[in-house]
Order: sequence, then structure tokens, then C-alpha cells
Amino acid sequence: MSEYTEGVAGYVARGEAMAAAEAHRRSVMRTKKFDTIAVHGVYDMQAALANQGSIIEPGYLSSAEHFENSDHMEAALAYLMPAWVYSRIANPTAHYLEETLALLEGYGFDGEVSALATSSGMSAIFMATNPFLENPRPGMNIVASARCYGGTFMLFGQRYGAERGIDVRWVRDPLDLNEWAEKIDGNTRFVYGETPSNPLVSIMDIEAVAGIAHAANLPLIIDSTVATPALTRPLNLGADIVVHSTTKSMTSSGFAIGGAVVARHGIVTDIGPDEMRDNFAMYVKLLPFRDHGPGISPFNALMTISDLRTLRHRMDFVSKSTMKVARYLESHDSVDRVAYPGLESMPGHDVAKRTMWLVDGADDYGTEVNRFGHLLAFEVKGGATEARRVFDEFEMIWRATDLGRIKSVATIPAISTHQQQGDEGRDLASVPMNLIRLNIGGEHPGDIIADLDRALAVL
Ligand SMILES: *Cc1c(COP(=O)(O)O)cnc(C)c1O
Repeated sequence: MSEYTEGVAGYVARGEAMAAAEAHRRSVMRTKKFDTIAVHGVYDMQAALANQGSIIEPGYLSSAEHFENSDHMEAALAYLMPAWVYSRIANPTAHYLEETLALLEGYGFDGEVSALATSSGMSAIFMATNPFLENPRPGMNIVASARCYGGTFMLFGQRYGAERGIDVRWVRDPLDLNEWAEKIDGNTRFVYGETPSNPLVSIMDIEAVAGIAHAANLPLIIDSTVATPALTRPLNLGADIVVHSTTKSMTSSGFAIGGAVVARHGIVTDIGPDEMRDNFAMYVKLLPFRDHGPGISPFNALMTISDLRTLRHRMDFVSKSTMKVARYLESHDSVDRVAYPGLESMPGHDVAKRTMWLVDGADDYGTEVNRFGHLLAFEVKGGATEARRVFDEFEMIWRATDLGRIKSVATIPAISTHQQQGDEGRDLASVPMNLIRLNIGGEHPGDIIADLDRALAVL
């Protein structure tokens, strides 16, 4: 029996109470430490009691939500009350992930932050950038670091540039602030960077570039996949929007592909409607995301929620191991160059030291500690052939185009992630043929170094 007495207005009132309860949960969690947020998110005892008492966030694999009556349906579908409706539009399990991500990226940040979970890192990057390209005008351009993920390079260069005629202005050296400033003009729609970048682990100064972007009333979008909020939170440094491939360190088990758009409320832009400026992640979720359809599978959201609980500890441990491996490689005769933000020889090391800190590190170490993540890249002495010979010798380090794993993984970007870009694209992105990208996992660092040592001895 359904109740027809409430009316749409009754459901709107119920929705307001639901939203207030959620806001309360969020405000309670904002007073907690990073690890506590990562473990609990907004899934509290009250939420559990509404879910058969389950202490772990339930995985809602259902495609759709049932409504009490037509008024309830009307209120929900008109976005007049919190509801998830249909799993392409929203999903309760994806929602738990979104709330956790917003709290982690917003840790230590004064303002409000919202997040949108997506099917992959690439769909997150598309969702975060495409809304700024509406109402195309002659001369419309975007300014982006050329030192970015191979997929981003293709999305911007091919899909936006070659197919849609958008002028893609690549910044070759993201540490050169003049290059950013010179490329921006009155037709620029957004400024985009990635730090540390994949695969070169290049650093950029988020604070300085945010200043340049904001002076032109433009939003700064940062891909922070490699750092994770355990080591850097770009919103605190002035960025407007953060994108993630949650596939990587956030889901280190390797059980899921996923992505996220995390934005502070009140981004800097004069594009789009007020709602887009006020709460970008929510605007995208309610409209373009609904219509494009790149929602995360609730099963994948659950895998990410599960791995996120230990993010800070993992990033601490694997960063320490990576520092050891980087020092080992740096001193090896068959290695030309090692790129790792923790090395003094790395351009931008000073910026990395200023911005990459283990969150709440003082609670463990008595003082704040720098941690630089678990991605590094090294150039093998010689060329492409030598790099491949070393790569083919690995017996424990996996050969795969993957990173962020709890297992060590290596790839040669020139023949994998940066294969489609061609020589010109690789030159623009500064990806040499003899570069091996290495993600350090949770194995004992001695065993990782032993595998590298044996492989390098082939030369
Ligand atoms: C992997 C990756 C992406 C793309 O993410 P997917 O989940 O593979 O779509 C974007 N940015 C960076 C830095 C990445 O490493």
C-alpha cells in the first residue's frame, strides 16, 4: 500500500531532512584525522542501521531504485530530493566513495568540496574538462602541461585538437612559469597540469600556476593520481578541480578501474551557468555526466572504498621503499638518469619538498616528513635496445602498463603508453626511447633491488 498523502512537497521536506543528516555526517567527519576518514567516510552507525546493520558499506549492485509512489518518483527525478534513481545517474555505493574522496581531498581545506566518481581516470578527465568547451568561439584554446598521461595527451591533442579544432597549447616545461603565463589569453578556457606526472614524474608548482590561472579568471585543473591526497592536496594549494585515476594507488589491489572529479565550491571561471561555478562536481554529476553516462560500477566503487582505508600507511611505506630504489639506481653505472621527486638531482625537487608531505606524518614521526610516492623513471645507458634487454630480464617486477599497484610493475612508455603519439608527440612530452617507468610495490625493497640488479647486469 502506498501513501498518497505526502504529495511532492512532503517528499521535498523529507529530502531536506535527509540532506541535513548527510551534511551533519560530513561535518562530524571533517573534525577527524585522515586515517579515520579513510576508514569510515560518511558511513556511520545510523547509515549501517538502515542497511541491516552491516558495518561495511554495502555494495548496491541494483540498476534502479524503487519509489513509494508517483509523488516520490516525481520529486526524485526532478532532483528535488536526495535519491539515486538509476545507477547511471547515481548509486549509493558510488556515493560512499564520493563522500570519502571529497573529505580526503578536502582535508585541511577551509571551503566546501564535492566529488564525482567515474568509470575511469580518462572519463574523469573528460568530465572535468569538456564542460569548459561549450559555446565554442574562434581562437578558443586550452593550456596544458605536455608532461601528462598518454591518454590525456591523446584526449586533448586528438579529440579536442584535431577533431574539434580546439587550439591545444602545450606547456613543454611545467616548471617554467613564463611558459604558462605566455600561453594564456582571453580565449583560454582552462589550465591543466599533472604533478608528479606520469611517466616522467615531473613536478610543477601548483601554487604558482594557480596564481597565474586565477589572474586570468581561469580554473586550474590538476591530475593528482600519482601523489594521492595522502601526499599532496592540490585544493589546499589553490587548484580548483582535482582529477584522479582511482585505478592506481587508491585501488592498489588492482581490482578495479575508476576515476574521480573532486572540486572545491566556487571555482574560478566565467564559463557556464552559476551552478557550475558554485558546485562543479555536483553540476557535472546532475547534467553532463548523466547524459554522457560514464558512471563507475558499484562493484568497482566498493573495491576502491576498501583499498582507500589504508592509503596513508601504504603511501608512506612504498614511498620509503621507492627512495631506496631511486638511490640504488642513481648509483648504478648502467643507468643514465633517474627521475624521482625525492632526488636532489631532480628538477623541481625544491617544489616537491615544499608540497609533498605525508599527511599527519608528525603523529607517526614526531615531525612532518616528506614523502614522494612510488613512481619513478630511469633511463638505461645506451638506447631503446638496451632498455628492452634490461626490461626483458625482470623475474619479479611485472611487465605491464599499470601503476599504483601493491606489486612492482614496469613499462617502457615509448612502446606502450606513449606509442600512439609518434616521435613528434614523444619529443613534445619529453619521453625518451630508453626510459623505463617503475612503480614500486609493497614487496621488501631488498628483493626489488635484487631483481633490478640482476636485470641491469645483462648489459
Ligand atoms: C592511469 C592514469 C590516468 C587514466 O586513468 P584510467 O583509470 O586508466 O582511465 C590518468 N592520469 C594518470 C596520471 C594516470 O596514471
